Order: sequence, then C-alpha cells, then structure tokens
Amino acid sequence: MHLNPYGEYAVLMAASLADDWPEDRAGIEARTREFGMTMDFAASPDDHLRTRQVIDEWLRVVDAPEPGERARLLNELMARATAYPRLTDHGGEGWHLHYRDDANDSLPDVLRAVISVGTALHLTTRGIHRLGRCAAGNVEGDPCAAVVVDVTRNGRQRYCSVRCANRDAVRRHRARRVRPGGPRTH
Ligand SMILES: [Zn+2]
Ligand SMILES: [Zn+2]
Repeated sequence: MHLNPYGEYAVLMAASLADDWPEDRAGIEARTREFGMTMDFAASPDDHLRTRQVIDEWLRVVDAPEPGERARLLNELMARATAYPRLTDHGGEGWHLHYRDDANDSLPDVLRAVISVGTALHLTTRGIHRLGRCAAGNVEGDPCAAVVVDVTRNGRQRYCSVRCANRDAVRRHRARRVRPGGPRTH
C-alpha cells in the first residue's frame, strides 16, 4: 500500500474494519484489497484474533478524550508497530516506504504499522480532531458507534451518515420545543 501524504486510505480502512468487522481472515484480506493494499500475507491461525486486537488498540486512539492523550496512545502504538522507514518496490508497485521490519510481514503486524503511521499522517496533516465517533451516538440510547474519519475540506464532519445527521437534528428540534420549562401538559 502506498500511504498517500494524508494517510487517508489507511485510516478509512481501519474505520471500515472497526465498523464492519469481517467474520474471518479472508474477509480482512479482502478489505485490505478494497483499500488498495496489494501484498500477500503468510497465513497464521491467530491472524483474525490479532487483527481484532490491532483494531481495538486503534479504537482507543479514536476515543481519546483530548489531543495529548490521543498522541500518547498513538505514539505507543507506533513504537510497537514500526521500524525505521525503508524504500521498497515489491510486487511492481513502484518505490514506496514501509514503516516496519521486513520480517514483520504477518497480516496483523503489517496492518498495525500501516494503520498507526497512516493515522499519524492524517492527524498531523488534516488536524488532530479529525477522528472520532459519530455525534449521533453521543446521545444515550442511540445505537450508532461508527467511526468518523473527517477528510472533508472544511473539517466539520460530525456524523457517519446523512441518516444519523437527520436523526440527531430531529432530536435537537424536539428538545428545543419542550424547553424552557419542560414538557407542557395543556
Ligand atoms: Zn508495500
Ligand atoms: Zn452514525
């Protein structure tokens, strides 16, 4: 995979895995293809479980309450995932950078490196706040826990979908109508 200067595809891939977790290893590999990765991975029986752990570690970065904590968690993830960058041209992809040891080429290890560095690029080029959960899910009882990767021009994407934006707008509208003084009975 070529990490573009914004890290966008790696972050979108991580969000896709978090929101729609594949039921088996083949599903994870198919998802990496969808997001532009071309390499083959040596299969191991614990790939599915270990990739889930990578996504759960990444979700702690997504859910970090403030920038300092977010940076700390992401630095931790990169410290474990990455090595010095090196140039490679495997598979006729053209010269690009890998941020891991060549020996660490299992599916979860590669994803941890690609996702952590991609997220760091995204947060530093686009903005530290441009990652989180769908704002509709902040309301108690709302079912949405989708990850929002904000790659919009103005940086104001708060919802995962139009559907969630609409649901939240309706709720806010209703809340305004019953305030001040709470609901009236006559
Ligand atoms: Zn590569
Ligand atoms: Zn949503």
